[in-house]
Amino acid sequence: MYKLSFIGLGSVGLCTAVCFASKGYEVTASEIDRAKATRIRRGNPPFYEPSLNKMLVKALENGNLKITSNNEEAILKSDITFITVGTPSKTDGSISLSYVSKASKEVGRALKKKVGSAAHLVVVKSTVTPGTTLNIVRPAIERSSGQKCCEGFLLCSNPEFLREGNAIRGTLNPDYVVVGGCNERSTDMLEHLYREFYSENLPPIIRTNIPTAELIKYANNAFLATKVSFINTIANICERIPGADVRKVAEAIGKDHRINPYFLDAGLGWGGSCFPKDLKALISFSKGLGYDPELIQATLRANEDQVRFTIQKAKKELGTLRGKSIAILGLAFKPNTDDLREARSLELIRGLLKQGAAVKAYDPMANENARRILKRKIGYASSAVECLKNADCAILVTEWEEFKKLNPEDFTRNMRKPVLIDGRRIFDPEKYSEKLRYVAVGLGEPAALIAP
Ligand code: NAD
Repeated sequence: MYKLSFIGLGSVGLCTAVCFASKGYEVTASEIDRAKATRIRRGNPPFYEPSLNKMLVKALENGNLKITSNNEEAILKSDITFITVGTPSKTDGSISLSYVSKASKEVGRALKKKVGSAAHLVVVKSTVTPGTTLNIVRPAIERSSGQKCCEGFLLCSNPEFLREGNAIRGTLNPDYVVVGGCNERSTDMLEHLYREFYSENLPPIIRTNIPTAELIKYANNAFLATKVSFINTIANICERIPGADVRKVAEAIGKDHRINPYFLDAGLGWGGSCFPKDLKALISFSKGLGYDPELIQATLRANEDQVRFTIQKAKKELGTLRGKSIAILGLAFKPNTDDLREARSLELIRGLLKQGAAVKAYDPMANENARRILKRKIGYASSAVECLKNADCAILVTEWEEFKKLNPEDFTRNMRKPVLIDGRRIFDPEKYSEKLRYVAVGLGEPAALIAP
């Protein structure tokens, strides 16, 4: 079994490292942020992810996983190094490669000290625009190691497709794995690792060259984001047709196997650490090549519209937002995570505050993270019902299971004015429309007056 090292322990690095360790691999995982590394070493993940805590504790206890802040130590103990550092957006939308460059340099420095005949494989798992691995990572490692790529060390691109909130399951059961190597030997080595790791549960392995591998990641995310923006566009049309319901439209077109039912949930739009960043990076990268990708730009614009339209809905219901109390149910960019990066809730709250509304919010996991960002600009509730108390309008932002258990009475009994804007379509329109003012994404009115 190959020995593995990971450089950077965010969602991707930590979850992947833990999954390999759970299958008996010897993994040394390095995180530059010492406080974070200490926390992880104590079995306490710095973010919430289902199953991660239990698996982390087990991997630390059985010794398969070692946590360090010393990249060199991690690299020298391994045969394969995964670079899993962040690639955040710059203000112009392009990605910042500073963490990738620095990590590559450090990998090279460690490789200079590595003795042994077998070539070390370096795998770029971070999402990077096409050309990065060959034009930035490769020369950085070559310069600091004094070795030639494909000779002294091997190099692959292996983009990651896990979804936060489903990261462990996604890593153990991916739809496919992309392996793009600088030569056959690199690709073979990484494919061998995955064949062994997945064994009978082997997903399709796509072998390709490095720039194609890098582009696959962007194409994947741009397609999914476009699919969501597409159904949101249909939702906005539905809202202007009495009785029309985007949920039925999605249910129907999802039966077409060429479309499939996934990513057809109309709502407030997508957020998170990947879609917005990756789409902006793809647009910027593409423009740099002299091509303006209008479809991707429209996808991004359509997403931004969803928050604006939701504020308009609240304003239409309440007349003015000035002095009104708005309850926000859900802050995380999606359920089962406490991640607020590019969360629609933040955009929405900032827009509501700008219009003079008072906001109180509740999220089962993300209240603490929100407090760090929004500070005392809003109030925080410790339950959904507490959040609804005396509100003039409630907006459902994140589709947590907990919120699906609410009843119309929870709204009517607690709110000053029971107006509910269902931004994720989790409530039954008929049941709710009978008891309170129910407005929902993609639901034309008056729905109740039109026979099914
Ligand atoms: P992150 O920013 O949350 O975590 C990266 C970690 O790397 C941080 O903890 C940082 O301190 C550490 N780091 C930075 N430089 C380092 C260095 N030189 N040595 C050691 N540690 C270092 O990132 P993430 O969300 O895990 O994403 C990592 C990459 O994977 C990004 O390119 C992202 O686009 C991509 N990706 C993310 C997801 C996701 O859901 N989060 C999914 C697929 C792909």
